[in-house]
Amino acid sequence: MRVLQLDAEDQKLIEAAREVLRRNYHPVKHSVGAAVLCASGRIYTGINVEACGYGPCAEPIAIGAAFTNGEREIRAIVAVHKRGDTYPVLSPCGNCRQLLVDYAPEAMVIFDYDGQVVKARARDLLPGAYLSGFDEA
Ligand SMILES: [Zn+2]
Repeated sequence: MRVLQLDAEDQKLIEAAREVLRRNYHPVKHSVGAAVLCASGRIYTGINVEACGYGPCAEPIAIGAAFTNGEREIRAIVAVHKRGDTYPVLSPCGNCRQLLVDYAPEAMVIFDYDGQVVKARARDLLPGAYLSGFDEA
């Protein structure tokens, strides 16, 4: 997997994810924030929605907000959680990796890779992924 170093635009996206989590943090219900950068240049954010031990991650909420507002191309995505007074970057779960392969395979995912925050193409984070055929529909 080819990983890249972050640039100033990536740092801005991380800060947007941190800001949405700061505003909406709840220790049980909302503990992860995400931000997506779209081809339009706009950033959309979301928080996870925990329910009975399972609920949508922050990433699909942010992607849904972007698509709801007419976006169709995601350039980058990041998720953060809260640890004390800090908001470290998370690595996307398996479900979110599949979602990204379906909706934004070329997007750059900013993630924690063995303690280092880097970015890689979404499709490279799920080798041999199931291909839904969404693009042909
Ligand atoms: Zn997830």
